[in-house]
Amino acid sequence: MALKNSTVKVTQLKYGNTKCYLLGGTSKSLLIDTDWAGKLPAFYHALGQKKLTAQGIDYLIITHYHPDHMGIAADLMRIGIRLIVMDCQQKYIHQSDHIFYKENNPAFQPINDHKIRVVKISQSRRFLASCGIPGVIINTPGHTNDSVSLVLDSGEAFVGDLYPQDQVPLYNNPVITASWQKLKDNGASLVHFAHYANEIVK
Ligand SMILES: [Zn+2]
Repeated sequence: MALKNSTVKVTQLKYGNTKCYLLGGTSKSLLIDTDWAGKLPAFYHALGQKKLTAQGIDYLIITHYHPDHMGIAADLMRIGIRLIVMDCQQKYIHQSDHIFYKENNPAFQPINDHKIRVVKISQSRRFLASCGIPGVIINTPGHTNDSVSLVLDSGEAFVGDLYPQDQVPLYNNPVITASWQKLKDNGASLVHFAHYANEIVK
C-alpha cells in the first residue's frame, strides 16, 4: 500500500526491549514511548548513533503507562523534554511505580505531576498541528485502559502494545475489535508496534 507523502520524519529508536519512535514535525519533535528505568545511558547512545541529541526532542508521549514504556519518562522530563499526557491517561501515570520500587531500581524516578502537560484527546489534532505533525491521537484500549495510538495523516500508526490483527479474533474482546476499527476509521494503513513487526492494515 502506497503511503501519502508525509512531512513527518519517522525514526525508530530501540535501546532495550521497546521500539520507540521519534516523529520530526516541521516545528517540533515528539518521542513516542521510552524503555525500562535505568536505560537513560542506552537512550543517549541510541540517539548518538542516529546523530540526534536529546535537546532536539520537544515532547514525549507514552502509549500506555507500563514499566517498559514509561521507565525513563521522569529522566527525560528533567533534561527538558515535556511529557504530554492525554486526559484519558492521567490517572494511570503512576500505575507502574510500584514495580520499580519492588525491584529496588536505583535509577527510577517517579513522574513529577506538576511538570506534565495534559492534552484532551479531543484536542489531539490541534496539539499535533502545533508540532507540524499532521495526525491524531486516539484512545485504543484493549491491552490496557490507558492505551492510546497516534495516527499520522500519511497512514502510519503507532499503537504501542495493541494486539496484532491475527490475534484479535483469539481474544474475542469487543474492546480490542473496536480499537482496531477506530484505527481504520482514522486512516491507519501501516502499523508500528512497540514489540511486534510492522503490519499493513488489512
Ligand atoms: Zn504493555
